[in-house]
Amino acid sequence: MKVLKFGGKSLANGKGIDTVVDIIHNKVRNGEKITVVLSARGNTTNELEEILEKASKNEDYKEQLKAFKKYQIEDFRGVDFDNEFKTLDKLFEGVSLLGDYSKRIKDQVLSQGEVISAKLLTQLLREKNIKANFTDSRDLIKTDGRFGDAQPLNKLSKENVINHFQKYNGSTVNVVTGFIASNTKNETTTLGRNGSNYTASLLANYLEAEELQNYTHVNGIYTANPDLVQDAKKIEKLSFNEANELAYFGTNILHAKTIIPLIEKKIPLRILNTFDSNGNGTLITSETSEKGIKSLSVLENVALINLKGRGLLGKVGVDARIFRALAHKNISVSFISQGSSERGIGFVVDADKAKEAKDVLEQEFEADFYKRDVSAISIEDDVSVISIIGQDLSTFHKPYNALIKNQIVPLLFNNTVSGKNVSLVVRKRQLHRALNVIHGEIFEISKKINIAIFGHGLVGGTLIDQILQSTKQIEKRKNITLNIFAVANSRKVLFAKNGLETNWKTKIEEKGVSYAIEDIISFADEHHLENLIAIDNTASEAFTKSYINLVKHSFDLVSSNKVANTLSFDFYKELRIKLEENQKQYLYETNVGAGLPLIDTIKLLHLSGENITRIKGVFSGSLSYLFNTFSAEERPFSEVLQEAIDKGFTEPDPREDLCGNDVGRKLLILARELDLGNEFDDVNIHNLIPKNLREGEASSFLERLGELDEVYQKVKEEQKPDCVLRYIGDLWGDLSQEKGNLDVKLVSVPKSSALGQVKGSDSIFEIYTESYGDQPIVIQGAGAGAAVTARGVFGDILRLADKA
Ligand code: ASP
Ligand code: MG
Repeated sequence: MKVLKFGGKSLANGKGIDTVVDIIHNKVRNGEKITVVLSARGNTTNELEEILEKASKNEDYKEQLKAFKKYQIEDFRGVDFDNEFKTLDKLFEGVSLLGDYSKRIKDQVLSQGEVISAKLLTQLLREKNIKANFTDSRDLIKTDGRFGDAQPLNKLSKENVINHFQKYNGSTVNVVTGFIASNTKNETTTLGRNGSNYTASLLANYLEAEELQNYTHVNGIYTANPDLVQDAKKIEKLSFNEANELAYFGTNILHAKTIIPLIEKKIPLRILNTFDSNGNGTLITSETSEKGIKSLSVLENVALINLKGRGLLGKVGVDARIFRALAHKNISVSFISQGSSERGIGFVVDADKAKEAKDVLEQEFEADFYKRDVSAISIEDDVSVISIIGQDLSTFHKPYNALIKNQIVPLLFNNTVSGKNVSLVVRKRQLHRALNVIHGEIFEISKKINIAIFGHGLVGGTLIDQILQSTKQIEKRKNITLNIFAVANSRKVLFAKNGLETNWKTKIEEKGVSYAIEDIISFADEHHLENLIAIDNTASEAFTKSYINLVKHSFDLVSSNKVANTLSFDFYKELRIKLEENQKQYLYETNVGAGLPLIDTIKLLHLSGENITRIKGVFSGSLSYLFNTFSAEERPFSEVLQEAIDKGFTEPDPREDLCGNDVGRKLLILARELDLGNEFDDVNIHNLIPKNLREGEASSFLERLGELDEVYQKVKEEQKPDCVLRYIGDLWGDLSQEKGNLDVKLVSVPKSSALGQVKGSDSIFEIYTESYGDQPIVIQGAGAGAAVTARGVFGDILRLADKA
């Protein structure tokens, strides 16, 4: 036989109770032998409690009682609850007259909820021609008589139950009231709130049922609350021992007293969803799995109380006094942590008890306040406790580090010695994000990296497409999910909490909204997005003003935009200080040499103490092409330049390349990597544009390209034999000083040298160091272009993702 238990939500008016009837109907039709245990319907018990409370305070309870009755019968005119309603009328009237009630009376009141529920279902089943038998558990389960929280007398109850079921067995479905019982004087007692679970497991035990099926409104037990953690997984099977850990943290079905009768007879407990007949729910059995189960549970509506004082140091009995004072007021402590120095003791109580707890402690420690042994007792509202069940301390650093990276600093934490349990107190507003971060970490579920992309021009657009194309693969290979949650241009942002789709370009036009940076920060916050990265693919100085704000709000930064690194050295330093303070990173490999691993190499060399003595090279892809081609071929300068323009190698106004500022900026960025304090003004730049062509519209410049020919033809011809022209950046001098020499210039070098051999639009960088001597480290390759730049940015994102 199976025992089925249905909870209040399953039995509520409407879909609930109809579905319950269907479930039972199906089982009976399939020839299954079942017994049904019910709790009161919907919110009945709470309602009755409220009405009782009102009556005892002489408030008007009649309206609410009327509504209560209406709820019970409105969908089912055919059932007669006269008896129950009259009983309630009488009880409430009495309480109202007395202005008080006992626990005994309360049990009598609350019991009507279960009686009504079981009577109703019995009737509904009979209407479907199912042989159903209303069974009042007060005739069966006998208790020690402690009202409100009675303990069953097992021997007697068992006898009663067995006898009853011998009479009504076979095809009859006994519909049993949960929660309620009676003492030996036949007075009604209850088994404590949520007690119908207990009734069901007692029946299962007495009748040696093959399974207890507990029908709830959730699909089973999850690794975390699926409302809060999208990736939460249903646990198919776990042991009672493991379930017991969960029970401690408040899951009522799994209350210890409820599962003991099941463990005793090795009866499996299945948690099912009334509203989803497809699932198998979660099965809890006596078998212990080897691996152990992990899950997250949360305690909400709690407050943290903090007792501070130097004088607590080494004093005997401080804890005892705290607990005694609280116990006196019936305040339970669910979490405690204290330093060995005892300068501070923090503990967690129910939120609605916090004020009272503070008050009693202030009384208790009054004398210590005067002596200044205790300096403050404070309440921190709005906290939550997260318990990581199945977590031992040997791997706790993983979730912990992940939290810190996301700027979630737990207020307190503690662990159990035996139970493999770590609990943390976090601020409530960070709960959601904290759960997701921990969950992702302990289940090695692909780590989600949430990305906001600013600028979706050539590089930005290519990047988005590259990311969208490789998301699946990266998920498979690296267990990292890249989620672009926002893409913005200078005017509009498109939000996509669950990630951008391939049609993002049209969508940003249609659905994009104007924004300020704060909106993006709040969006991430409201949706509890973790592992945040902001990508700057703009060329704008304006946007760099938001960097620090983003860093403060837990964003790592990646940029192909060079501006932030070439503004004043003060800003450069300030940004780094803020990054450090907030433990955030800023990567910009593509600032110099696009995707070439240049900055990373220089960083590493510098960090490892290698003295870099000079960096020299062709920094600009467009100017590389220009001079490589011009040097190799007998063609006018303007013709080669026009070709570079046509191929899209230059900026629309090629003077932006020719003026040398871009190379200057790159050089400055490298210099600053070496901790040099140079400013942009310190860079000596040889501007390739003749003075008379520097001003004016791009279009008119483009018409006058021919005027460059004479100048450069002359330069070309004045070279020594077998030499070629190269436009280079050169960082040199005593680089251990505060500043280095930064030159950007057109030089003539032997064709056979490394620089002389550069082809196409390649970049080349020679890094001279003390250990490598005259032989520089050379990094060479495509140093420009949207695709390689986007790849480079992508690389930075993955570097950050790895560390997240
Ligand atoms: N109706 C009771 C309560 O709400 C018992 C139960 O639902 O299990 O606590
Ligand atoms: Mg690079």
